[in-house]
Amino acid sequence: MSDYKLLLIDDDEVDVMTFQRALRKSELPHHLNICYNADEALAAIENTSFDCIFLDYLLPGIDGLQLLRKLRDMSINTPVAVMTSQGDEKIAVEMIKNGAFDYFTKSEINPDKISKVVFSAVRLSDSEKQRYIAEKKIIENNSRLNAILESTKNLIYAFDRDFNLISFNSSFKENLEHLLRMHDIVKTDINLRDLPLSDERKQTLTQNIERCFLGEQFTVLEQVSFSNDTTKETPWYETTFNPIIDGSSSVTGVAIYSQDVTINKKIEQDLLQAKNDAIAAAATKSEFLSNMSHEIRTPMNAIIGLTELLLEESFEGTILENIKSIKYSADNLLVIINDILDFSKIEAGKVTFENIDFDLRHRMAELRKTFDHRTKEKGIGFEIEIDSQIPSVIKGDPYRLNQVLFNLVGNAIKFTSEGFIKVSATLMASKENTLTLQFSVKDTGIGIPENAQAKIFESFTQANTDTTRKYGGTGLGLAITKNLVQLQGGELSLTSTVGEGTTFFATINYQIGNALNLEEKKKKEDEPTDLSRFNILLVEDNLMNQFVAKQFFKKWKNELIIANHGAEAISILIERNDIDVVLMDLQMPEMSGFQAAEIIRDQNSAVKNTNIPIIALSADAFLETRRKVIEAGMNDYVTKPFNPEELYSKIVKYTNKAILPLEI
Ligand code: ADP
Repeated sequence: MSDYKLLLIDDDEVDVMTFQRALRKSELPHHLNICYNADEALAAIENTSFDCIFLDYLLPGIDGLQLLRKLRDMSINTPVAVMTSQGDEKIAVEMIKNGAFDYFTKSEINPDKISKVVFSAVRLSDSEKQRYIAEKKIIENNSRLNAILESTKNLIYAFDRDFNLISFNSSFKENLEHLLRMHDIVKTDINLRDLPLSDERKQTLTQNIERCFLGEQFTVLEQVSFSNDTTKETPWYETTFNPIIDGSSSVTGVAIYSQDVTINKKIEQDLLQAKNDAIAAAATKSEFLSNMSHEIRTPMNAIIGLTELLLEESFEGTILENIKSIKYSADNLLVIINDILDFSKIEAGKVTFENIDFDLRHRMAELRKTFDHRTKEKGIGFEIEIDSQIPSVIKGDPYRLNQVLFNLVGNAIKFTSEGFIKVSATLMASKENTLTLQFSVKDTGIGIPENAQAKIFESFTQANTDTTRKYGGTGLGLAITKNLVQLQGGELSLTSTVGEGTTFFATINYQIGNALNLEEKKKKEDEPTDLSRFNILLVEDNLMNQFVAKQFFKKWKNELIIANHGAEAISILIERNDIDVVLMDLQMPEMSGFQAAEIIRDQNSAVKNTNIPIIALSADAFLETRRKVIEAGMNDYVTKPFNPEELYSKIVKYTNKAILPLEI
């Protein structure tokens, strides 16, 4: 135990000696400093930290009281015990008021008294020290919390159980002051009910605070105005209610954190607006495309149809070559138009896929038929290989598969001048009912340089700048193909060496199909092309299309009955009961095909046979149009320019069979 550091301030030699004697007798380990006046004492106090000061209140110069005050001003907290003469209690009380912790009369100076005073001084300064440390901690904590509260522009405030505002940061204060038009609310006790808020707002706030007092923490999104400025948009706040819990786990208040989320809300609204605008724009575009598609395909129908008819005549030499060129160019133009329409549909997210059972081998045989002629003409080989493990019937979209392979094989032939093209279908994986098939299209053509390999899948991009000049094309084919493959859950990739050739790989998932659902139209070779026994009504406004159709039907020994629009068709069907099938164009003046079909199907209409088969003929190939056709009560659908075989077989189907709805 170290010595107690004691200071005695007394100008009386006798008193000093009495004190020293008593102290020695007390046997307290100590170190005693003695000062005879206030100045000396102040100097000593400044240099040494004492455990206890014994002060004679009667000093020369400044007296004990003044010295005490001085110590307090200097923030010196050393415990001071005052020694008085008999009968000076009043003075002693005054000294206590000014910071002394104890007093005793000089006659009481004895070892016991001194020990007691020293011990209680030490105890006092220990607890003083602890209080000081605790206070310092509280101050530090508060300033840390304050810094956190003030580090945000968001509003932080708290209410107690009686809805008194107990805490807030300056952002809250600014807003509140603005609202209250008050200068300083720090001095004012504010209760929730005093706030100039609408009754409704107060009620919500009260309810939320009460809910939070039950111990629940939650966040609400609300629109709150702190200003009367009606030109400004009311800001949005995301407000979190947090219970303030004390040491005994009871909720003593509610802390509220309000974050201004107006900007986020605005961005959200702008995004939503942009999204809706984009959807509207896409719809407009899609409508435009549907119209354009009609406008372009109608004359194409005439060109292709009439050229086909011309090719069946016995022309020779240059005329025959010219007709073939017209057919070739028209076919190409149709492919380009279809590509552009397809690409727009992909962009608008409007591509839909069939999910039907089909025979892959049959499809591949069709593919061979499509390209046999072109490969033979170019003098290159054409092979197709199908993995025997692939089941004969699979389920998916045969038309899109055809489109993918058609594009890849078309390119392969285009960019190959000698060698061969090989198309393979391999079973890559089968899991439960799902089959992953890989189709590869290999050629021995010009190849694609490595730096162009990724680029060619982008729309309107070709491997070389002189490709268009040499080979033509729009650069859309692969972009469409890749999208079609990806939309079916697959991937399109390639390997290629310049000068050696290219192989494209497309993986697509299918399901195992059911042969019972197969509806492949296998054309019978000996099918008679004779429709003479039927009365067929063609509803078509375009004179050129009427002409083309008439030519085909003449070939099939049939005199078409013609109506120029829907209304005319209705009058014919009211008059005649002997019509077997109606071929209905969709977009017509006076009355559209849809309206006409609805009237025909109406049981209350004057039409004689309301169940008559109706086959829609339309220039646009959108799946939505097909759906609308069925909704209007028509039986089937053929796209223009029509494939004569398809139209023929559908007429046969509906004139012979009961009415079957078209599967979409
Ligand atoms: P395009 O209509 O121009 O053929 P594609 O998107 O189908 O458009 O093809 C883009 C480009 O990729 C082609 O212009 C060509 O440069 C290159 N390409 C595609 N397939 C092959 C291939 N089998 N061999 C060589 N180059 C090819």
